[in-house]
Amino acid sequence: MTKPYRTLDDMGDVTGKRVLVREDLNVPMADGQVSDDTRLRATVPTIAELADRGAIVLVLAHFGRPKGKRDPNLSLALLTRPYAEVLGRPVRFIDWDGAADSVATLRPGEIAMLENTRFFAGEEKNDGQVVETMAALGDLYVNDAFSAAHRAHASTEGLAHALPAFAGRQMEAELDALEKALGKPEHPVAAVVGGAKVSTKLDVLKHLVARVDHLIIGGGMANTFLAARGVNVGKSLCEHDLAETADEIMAAAERAGCTVHLPYDVVVATEFRPNPPTRTVNVHEVAGDEMILDVGPAAVEALGDVLKNCRTLVWNGPMGAFETPPFDAATVALARTAAALTGDGSLVSVAGGGDTVAALNQAGVADRFTFVSTAGGAFLEWMEGRELPGVAALAR
Ligand code: ADP
Ligand code: MG
Repeated sequence: MTKPYRTLDDMGDVTGKRVLVREDLNVPMADGQVSDDTRLRATVPTIAELADRGAIVLVLAHFGRPKGKRDPNLSLALLTRPYAEVLGRPVRFIDWDGAADSVATLRPGEIAMLENTRFFAGEEKNDGQVVETMAALGDLYVNDAFSAAHRAHASTEGLAHALPAFAGRQMEAELDALEKALGKPEHPVAAVVGGAKVSTKLDVLKHLVARVDHLIIGGGMANTFLAARGVNVGKSLCEHDLAETADEIMAAAERAGCTVHLPYDVVVATEFRPNPPTRTVNVHEVAGDEMILDVGPAAVEALGDVLKNCRTLVWNGPMGAFETPPFDAATVALARTAAALTGDGSLVSVAGGGDTVAALNQAGVADRFTFVSTAGGAFLEWMEGRELPGVAALAR
């Protein structure tokens, strides 16, 4: 089936062609070492395929926030060796100074990593001069960095207009999964939205109520919805000033035929620390000095039954303060139910968000979801229904 954007399958013969590939290599570092190489590993399919097809592969990426200045601590030269290890192939490092001459020495099938794109002051401004400088080094452009696609920068958006542009394999997998989850999903569709605050996810909630059949609200943001309905949430994290907004979202859901699920039992404590004394109570029984820190077991069981009747699930935000035991219980239990239903083939499950991915890893189920997006900001903007400039620029 033809995709709305061009992929590596549309590139034709790339032998000897210089292909600029935008990747996300922004890995966390500790004591000068890569502490988590997930992002490096995710680039392997695209880079290996292009090298095997005889392209001259030129990897473009940003690293940290050098703010347009050269910073040796943020040089991509630091990643050349770990990246070569992950790829299992040699990687050359190429500085921006004299880049054209260095690129000219590369042979088909060779891989080079260009210096940090953000050493250019104009990178984040999508400056035409920077686009030209980069474009002059390549014949073709591949964007494989969905996680950077919500930014219209020179290397993520501008280049797509300067050279023939294609989506890499990682980008393609991400777009396929997102399309399945919210573009043209199989109904009924459930969305789980949790996390700390309503205020950071207003646009997500507004977009989802019109598209999903069940909206499951958990985490701290559920407190705002409960408070808006007159529930005393005690000392819970709660944005009381957003009561009206919460009511508007409930009304919009009702108009759209979307069932909103709020917890009816909750786990509370008077202290927020690991393993404090807790009570599991009906939401109407929270004491004035207590905090709601997790969704209760009865609600979780009912939510599991909702998922059993759904074909598609999209999940962003934990159900409770999962970093602090035992307030991970609801998130873990619901995640396991979703993973089991996915395994049975009855549910397509897509999840994303920094803390959500951490919570799913903690539950040990991340690899049993259909797709888990590691793109934090880009994933949220997509859940808000926004067009991502880096993706839009790849349209056929
Ligand atoms: P994501 O990064 O996946 O988008 P968020 O950043 O929105 O998720 O939310 C995650 C945070 O929400 C976690 O730090 C978690 O502890 C917090 N949280 C969830 N439920 C509660 C709660 N009931 N009270 C306080 N914090 C909560
Ligand atoms: Mg977060």
